[in-house]
Amino acid sequence: MDHACHGQPTVSVNYGSEAIGLRKFTDHVELIVKDQNDEKTVINAQYVVGCDGANSFVRKNMNHTITDLGFAADFLVVDIIPHVEREWTPMNLQVCDPARPTTVVSGGPGRRRWEFMALPGETKEEMNREEVAWRLLEPWDITPENSTLERHAIYTFKALWVDEWREGRLILAGDSAHLTPPFMGQGLCSGLRDANNLAWKLDMILSGKVDDSILDQYTKERKPHNRDVVEAALYLGKVICVTDPAEVEKRDAMFLSGDIPPFPDFPILTDGILHRSEAGRSDNLAGQLSFQSKVKYHGETGLFDDIVGHEGWTIMTIAEDPKKYLSQEQIEFLDSIGVEFFEFSDKETKNTNIVIDIDGKYKQYFQEKGVEVVIVRPDFYIFGSTATIENLPILVDGLKQQMNKFMNTATARKDTVI
Ligand SMILES: Cc1cc2nc3c(=O)[nH]c(=O)nc-3n(C[C@H](O)[C@H](O)[C@H](O)COP(=O)(O)OP(=O)(O)OC[C@H]3O[C@@H](n4cnc5c(N)ncnc54)[C@H](O)[C@@H]3O)c2cc1C
Repeated sequence: MDHACHGQPTVSVNYGSEAIGLRKFTDHVELIVKDQNDEKTVINAQYVVGCDGANSFVRKNMNHTITDLGFAADFLVVDIIPHVEREWTPMNLQVCDPARPTTVVSGGPGRRRWEFMALPGETKEEMNREEVAWRLLEPWDITPENSTLERHAIYTFKALWVDEWREGRLILAGDSAHLTPPFMGQGLCSGLRDANNLAWKLDMILSGKVDDSILDQYTKERKPHNRDVVEAALYLGKVICVTDPAEVEKRDAMFLSGDIPPFPDFPILTDGILHRSEAGRSDNLAGQLSFQSKVKYHGETGLFDDIVGHEGWTIMTIAEDPKKYLSQEQIEFLDSIGVEFFEFSDKETKNTNIVIDIDGKYKQYFQEKGVEVVIVRPDFYIFGSTATIENLPILVDGLKQQMNKFMNTATARKDTVI
């Protein structure tokens, strides 16, 4: 990510700088930034995206309310570098031991992480000490003789979200907008989804394709998805973090009998810029993540996103020549928002949009879903699908109708986003 940012001519990275002031105007935001030498700079920005963590400075400048599910558990997080490389089986585990609920996970190459829950009565100050870390690690055969303790810190795991993630030109993303207990490993993932969702909307605004009312879709799309993730993580937390003997007995009996509610499916997008039928129902695939498999394209082989690398809207189909079903007006609309067409086939032709479906996985996916064509948003969520290619014009009109709401007043601007 760091590397990718440095590679962008339009991005400047200022390590060690701190945003210390913010002034809101109708047509821009002034951000006052202090660098490591205490020098202050004023940056004029069209939009400020506060990806500034749980204690967000940007959020403090917004009128906001928070929905807090009331979960709070202190964990001592310890990162270890074993002196000799070891095989860890299983790689990741949750130990639902009421004597010390513990999480053990990979910490990246050559590292391993332990997360020990503070028991009722144990304070953060008591827990956050090196000797406590070593004491808790000893039963795992981790000692100062065979490992280096890289860092230890106390985190309070919480489950909450801000109710509205945009106020005018200020926008929240990542932990500034929501906190999830890490039992599903989804905190950063949710932040990346926010960034993906915002990026294409901001890009379309800044290139003058749409006006900024499209940003009203951001909270609408991301918040319910994130809420489901937080609730699922909380469900796991309530299984893992139990220390009360009666509750432990109840939990264990439930799991041993198998009488447990099924874990919910991973959430999809349910609101926002998604295809709906005239009756207002979304189609079967709208809001799901698009499918990806190995392809050959222009002589190269690999995963679709790596090889084709298109970052905007796409129309993907297993039918031939989708454009022939569309009017000139529809094609012009698709061009105006940068839609690319890709046809999956098992044989190469001169058509430059043909993507070779090496393992037949795309054909299988489309057949299983009962569709011939999908429109995929730039954040890889499916806008909509149709069973037959003949109905592609209906799908395109549906997209046009939704995008028109934001396109009427848009004019090109050269803007800054921070
Ligand atoms: C123990 C633990 C385990 C986790 N495990 C996982 C996992 O397995 N998978 C997963 O997806 N997530 C996991 N998470 C969650 C994940 O770490 C966070 O969701 C993620 O780091 C949030 O990223 P962020 O960029 O939104 O915020 P942060 O990582 O908090 O980054 C915010 C940045 O903004 C900077 N900043 C703040 N204020 C200012 C200011 N005024 N001016 C300039 N800069 C500022 C901060 O210095 C910081 O660099 C875990 C979290 C914990 C605590």
